[in-house]
Amino acid sequence: MLTFPEFQSNLAVVRARMDEACRCAKRDADSVQLLPVTKNHGAFAPEFASVSGLTAVGENRVQEAQLKRKESSASVLWELIGHLQSNKVKDAVATFDRIQSVDSMKVLQRIDRICGEFGKKMPVLLQCNTGEDPNKYGFKVAQMESALELALNADHLEVDGLMTIAPLDNDPDVAKEAFEGLRQLRDDLAAKFSVALPELSMGMTGDLEIAIAAGSTQIRVGTALYGVRVY
Ligand SMILES: *Cc1c(COP(=O)(O)O)cnc(C)c1O
Repeated sequence: MLTFPEFQSNLAVVRARMDEACRCAKRDADSVQLLPVTKNHGAFAPEFASVSGLTAVGENRVQEAQLKRKESSASVLWELIGHLQSNKVKDAVATFDRIQSVDSMKVLQRIDRICGEFGKKMPVLLQCNTGEDPNKYGFKVAQMESALELALNADHLEVDGLMTIAPLDNDPDVAKEAFEGLRQLRDDLAAKFSVALPELSMGMTGDLEIAIAAGSTQIRVGTALYGVRVY
């Protein structure tokens, strides 16, 4: 298992990468938040993050997060960043503080309905498959306007912004195009609906610099903080 000093040194490296990327992009260092991705790591992972002053963690599976949240003493917000099946929406609403991976009209409406039953309001991001990658979830770019309209009219959802995952590709221009595409889409939708959509969740271990240059407000980082995941 990763030790706490190892985690702290990994964190320092990630922070330095973020600072340098912000400097190059002439952005304030505090304009980008680091979301540690704790999936496939035990309850120690959110605890290390929490003790280091990080305020939220990302998980991609409902059941795993449910268990970990119970086991861990971390005081963090829990964010869902993985595909949500409609039969897991109830558990997801009970477990997570924000859902970033809203990727279909059906799941969007179901989250809204169940939040209504629970008497709660859920912050969400709409996940867009900006790279049109057939292996990735997310709304198509052409669906985003109707998805946002539906989400803005939902009583129990609070739309914070947009999320994307770049296509798996060694060419950095492919990621750049996906991230710049999401930012442009956000700007267009925000203007069209007169809403802020402040959050742009994009960038991971391998492409965080490209995402920050394109305007990311939150990078989701697993491997660089916790090491390679063993499945
Ligand atoms: C696993 C995961 C990450 C973290 O990826 P790393 O390459 O390990 O930093 C980020 N976002 C999503 C949606 C993920 O599933």
